[in-house]
Amino acid sequence: MDRHQRVTAPDQDVFETLESEVRSYCRSWPTVFDRASGSYLYDEQGRTYVDFFTGAGSLNYGHNNPLLKGALLDYLQRDGITQGLDMSTAAKRTFLQAFRDIILRPRQLSYKVMFSGPTGTNAVEAALKLARKVKGRETVVSFTNAFHGMTLGSLAVTGNTFKRAGAGVSLVHGVPMPYDGYLDDAPPFTWFERLLADRGSGLDRPAAVIVETVQGEGGVNVARPEWLRELAEVCRRNDMLLIADDIQMGCGRTGAFFSFEEAGIVPDIVTVSKSLSGYGLPLALCLFKPELDIWEPGEHNGTFRGNNPAFVTATAALEAYWANDQLEKQTLLQGEQVERALAKIQADHPEDIKEFRGRGLVWGLEFRDADRAARVTARSFTLGLLVENSGPDGEVVKLLPPLTATFSELDEGLHALACAVRETALST
Ligand code: PLP
Repeated sequence: MDRHQRVTAPDQDVFETLESEVRSYCRSWPTVFDRASGSYLYDEQGRTYVDFFTGAGSLNYGHNNPLLKGALLDYLQRDGITQGLDMSTAAKRTFLQAFRDIILRPRQLSYKVMFSGPTGTNAVEAALKLARKVKGRETVVSFTNAFHGMTLGSLAVTGNTFKRAGAGVSLVHGVPMPYDGYLDDAPPFTWFERLLADRGSGLDRPAAVIVETVQGEGGVNVARPEWLRELAEVCRRNDMLLIADDIQMGCGRTGAFFSFEEAGIVPDIVTVSKSLSGYGLPLALCLFKPELDIWEPGEHNGTFRGNNPAFVTATAALEAYWANDQLEKQTLLQGEQVERALAKIQADHPEDIKEFRGRGLVWGLEFRDADRAARVTARSFTLGLLVENSGPDGEVVKLLPPLTATFSELDEGLHALACAVRETALST
């Protein structure tokens, strides 16, 4: 059987009749997935899909990674604690020790570790709350096209109009500034610093600035290291905390464990989630410099801060992939492979593709027409490749392959993408 051939239509009835209209990814990929392994997902009909989506960046080490699965199965088999709120558990201790010894110490980072609720937006809410508490100020500066999550505090520092509108209330105490490259030719931060200095500007002194080093949802916009360094200086000069939201770009997506390492900056607060557990299990951290740890006990809590199976897989992932720099080097090398393939696709379709950009293993292909980008993702799906759209109008096809993909798996996905771009050009 041709592995891309559909046998019978999948049974979608219960999703369509019972599940809310709010569902989204299933609309782009109208099938029923059943199994997944490494770089591939399989649907009920037996079709295979190369995964360049990786759970929106939450599966950097691939699906059901055997190294992580083994540790998880052993833990479950011996009745290890599953849910521990913020009680001290053996699994949490092992994770914290590994995080300290494998990640923080070698990078000379002295961050304290706070477990927020388990999703990315929980970590962002904790970061915003802490920054405001430390500085005693309300305003937080964010950037154009930023995405920080769907709860009210995170939405207030998110750019996307459609997502902001869903809040249903005013989103307050956030002020947007231009991200790197947003204003052609303008020297970065001139306007921002002018507003900060001018007592007539109307800008309340901010507590903090929150930034993504690469804006994933915003369209794979890549900040230059020098821009990030200048931002860190602006924050220092103006007594504002710098929050790096590394939820999508951390855990090796851009090469190094933290995406800000390349710029040589040390943010005051860092949020990490998505691929931290490595297995797709929810887990989030808010890291901050020790002098910022002014929380009262229980001042910010949440039931699901003690996802112990996630501690187990996170520890296994740190030990397997971060005890040396092999994965980081491979990510940078494979990034070059993706870059070459995208350059070729763009060269073949210069009239349709505006540009491609990325770092490590996050790449975006920006189409001049958002509708065309949507057709490319849809066609990719029928060719057996999962990719999603990002950017304010969905004009960017975003590639997030697993960091554990082989060179030939990457080629397979890139080939499908090239076919999708070619075939959608022919169909217009
Ligand atoms: N911050 C960034 C940079 C993200 O990319 C995301 C999700 O895509 C979030 C925060 C929110 O994470 P979650 O969806 O787990 O709440």
